[in-house]
Amino acid sequence: MQTFNTINDIQNWCRDQKRQGKSIGLVPTMGYLHAGHLALAAEARSRCDIVVVSIFVNPIQFGVGEDFEDYPRDLRRDSNLLEQAGVDALFAPSVREMYPVGYGSYVEVTGEITEKLSRPGHFRGVTTVVSKLFNICLPDLAFFGQKDAQQAMVIEKMVKELNFPLQIIRVPIIREADGLAMSSRNVYLNPDQRSQALVLNQSLQKAREAIMAGERDTDRVRNLLQATIGTSPEANVDYAEIYDATTLADVKEIDGSVLIALAVRFGTTRLIDNLIVEVQ
Ligand code: AMP
Repeated sequence: MQTFNTINDIQNWCRDQKRQGKSIGLVPTMGYLHAGHLALAAEARSRCDIVVVSIFVNPIQFGVGEDFEDYPRDLRRDSNLLEQAGVDALFAPSVREMYPVGYGSYVEVTGEITEKLSRPGHFRGVTTVVSKLFNICLPDLAFFGQKDAQQAMVIEKMVKELNFPLQIIRVPIIREADGLAMSSRNVYLNPDQRSQALVLNQSLQKAREAIMAGERDTDRVRNLLQATIGTSPEANVDYAEIYDATTLADVKEIDGSVLIALAVRFGTTRLIDNLIVEVQ
């Protein structure tokens, strides 16, 4: 595996790969890799000639008071994992490389899809860095996790509306054996919070069971989510929402495909999870 730290070097290398007729798969990450990230890399490996993984903790997608400084980092361990996963190139730029002094260009997706999301400014940071990575790494396919369902939707909208010549591939959520969605942020949880965090997946499963048993009223499903999460004393719900799975529009009556999305804080750690449920 080759490691690149500068935009020029990886862009030239990717251009060269394309000149040789090779397809490129890009997996953007913030590092501190786990099996969820590796599932994206494996999917890229199975579909593309060349797999590029980026590791960049992107400062502009963190809000004031969020965990940019404390975000877990371990580039050496990550690099070994990617090597073992058969990745061809790792792109790990510095903040100054991506955002030189005086940097001032941003990409923003607007509309219903972003208006209701609970971290203003976050998605602008994501769409900006992802656009830069697309222009730098020239992927044919780019891989994103269903774990960050809203993020994947915002990026798909951006790719469509800005005519990026590539396709987004979504990869299902990878979970720990007990059901907790894998996340780099799980390391922040103390043992007590770690066991309480199971309420995310449990509440999603309960909501799914209720819908499968015939419940169609989103207020009642929302109440069920809140009540289940509420059994965990340290859990603070940021949102527990039911959206149309393709448009993110609010739904009153469950019909077709809905996205049940959660963001829950345990102390200062914010965890997200989601589930798509389909009804006829
Ligand atoms: P992150 O490093 O957290 O920014 O995540 C990088 C990519 O990995 C994003 O596309 C995430 O959606 C994806 N990802 C993170 N956790 C998981 C997981 N548990 N299962 C599947 N994909 C994931």
